[in-house]
Amino acid sequence: MTMRSTTAPSPRTIAEEQHAKSCQTTIITSGQGFHLRHASLLAYAKQPGYAGRFDLLTVLCDPQKLATPLGHDLLTQLVADAMLALDAHQGEQILVAVPGDPTAVVEAFRRQFLQDISSYRKPINPNTPIIGLSLDEAPEPSESVVIACMEPRQWDQANTAPFLDQLVKVYGLDAHPDVLAMPGGARDVEGKMKRSALTIAQLQARHVERNWQRIILTCHEDCAVFGGNAAFHGPQDQRNKLTDRLKISRKVLQERFPRRALETAIVSIEGGKIAGIVHL
Ligand SMILES: [Zn+2]
Repeated sequence: MTMRSTTAPSPRTIAEEQHAKSCQTTIITSGQGFHLRHASLLAYAKQPGYAGRFDLLTVLCDPQKLATPLGHDLLTQLVADAMLALDAHQGEQILVAVPGDPTAVVEAFRRQFLQDISSYRKPINPNTPIIGLSLDEAPEPSESVVIACMEPRQWDQANTAPFLDQLVKVYGLDAHPDVLAMPGGARDVEGKMKRSALTIAQLQARHVERNWQRIILTCHEDCAVFGGNAAFHGPQDQRNKLTDRLKISRKVLQERFPRRALETAIVSIEGGKIAGIVHL
């Protein structure tokens, strides 16, 4: 684990340090809830002493597509997001967990990673291990999709009520909802960034197969993509601004997914883990 400066840290730096201690892994996997549960259990079982937290990045298409020219835009975005996760949380390894043989996807990811590493804004370890894991095929597809942040405090196996289970309970979802996990969650759905276009394209392509009935958009408190708690004038200001962002994202998706239930929520974070889900 990389050590930071020994000068007096700011409160934000202390929070980052706490993260860094238990988030050495970035998991890249399919957006099927069944797969991300399986991937997190494999990661948990694979590493003695692993704290059960990880940055989570998912794709809604078949992850094997990432190894083909058709998946290139998505692959480059995933590589950029993985570098962001490694950088933000001092990550030490990347697990690529896909149904079937992970070899081709791992190799495609590694090539892109090594190609893009020099243009990332901070130094990234080119020898970061990129490990492939093979997942079982998923059972029945879900009728719902959740858009959420990659945030490790949400994907905490050690927590007695992991995020996915809380979502299932709060919203009455089937056991394995689809999940699109990326930095900032539903924050950038409306933006002009490449990520926004990719998000909408992924949702639309998967919706053709899934015919989702419910789309749940979430952001969480103390999100590094927003600048953390320190970026707001107190809890109420943070809640208001997250609510505003979610309303915009919801409006954009409502135009593309008419007659579907679009719901929004803020994930409340306290003491390094989820304190609750505030259904707006
Ligand atoms: Zn976040």
